Amino acid sequence: MNTPPDQYGVVGHPVAHSLSPFIHGMFARDTEQNLVYRLHEVPPERFRGYVLEFFARGGRGLNVTLPHKEAAASLANDLTPRAERAGAVNTLMLLEENRILGDNTDGAGLVSDLQNNLRVPVEQRRILILGAGGATRGVLGPLLMREPAQIVVANRSVKRAQTLLADFCDLGPVRACGFDELPAEAFDLIINATSASLSGEVPEISADVLGAHSVCYDMAYGKSATPFVRWALERGCARAVQGLGMLVEQAAESFELWRGVRPQTAAVLSALRRHAAEGRN
Ligand code: NDP
Repeated sequence: MNTPPDQYGVVGHPVAHSLSPFIHGMFARDTEQNLVYRLHEVPPERFRGYVLEFFARGGRGLNVTLPHKEAAASLANDLTPRAERAGAVNTLMLLEENRILGDNTDGAGLVSDLQNNLRVPVEQRRILILGAGGATRGVLGPLLMREPAQIVVANRSVKRAQTLLADFCDLGPVRACGFDELPAEAFDLIINATSASLSGEVPEISADVLGAHSVCYDMAYGKSATPFVRWALERGCARAVQGLGMLVEQAAESFELWRGVRPQTAAVLSALRRHAAEGRN
């Protein structure tokens, strides 16, 4: 008799647009893992009960996306150090004795995309991060570990950036400010970690932060260039990319945690880029 596949999935609200089933489906096929990965559309008020029941019924792991990442951190019995630091969880995994582990693979995913796929160095670079939400919390620790010269976190609401700063300033040279307090100096790397692109907007910042050598990275991604990527290219930056690579790399981190095998990401990323170019995602 065939062994039933292990159950995985992504829980979010909304989640119908998620590319994760495609990504994990390819990982599972390429690494010959017997698993299924499904979408779980769950509103905030049902999140805790839904997830506990998923694991009680033998589910093995879940990715967690907006708006549940903080709730997932509270629900987990154990947190990895990077999830504890972020205060947000994007990966849940069933451990022995029905304990649930929470991890955050967003930062490792971003760093891997920058360093391995895009060959964009972080070490000794001046980095500007726009936004101070969950995504910034996830990536700040792993970026600071790569010893950049400085990270400036700028947010629409300055208070939120300052609160975030207090949780990370022991890790390296990081400071917080509002969009209108940004220095008129070009950064080496500018990461848009706001959700502005999702509503067709661009954070209201001066183009003085862009130089001809600046690389711009939008964590958001879409069928065509995001508003931030267009904004950056129109103002003459060296290069501007979307966050599809981060999505695939954070998924690979989750997959390795769950299955103990590291999937290759290049073919998955190419397939997603092809689908996007054909307008199918
Ligand atoms: P949150 O809701 O936690 O935070 C949203 C942030 O965006 C806040 O800093 C908010 O500022 C800011 N913001 C929203 N709208 C605007 C606007 N019009 N102008 C300026 N700032 C704005 O979201 P997350 O941090 O979880 O996600 C942020 C982005 O990162 C999303 O686009 C998400 O899809 C993407 N992401 C991509 C991943 C990938 O793998 N590629 C992984 C994780 C996230 P304020 O505090 O002032 O409201």
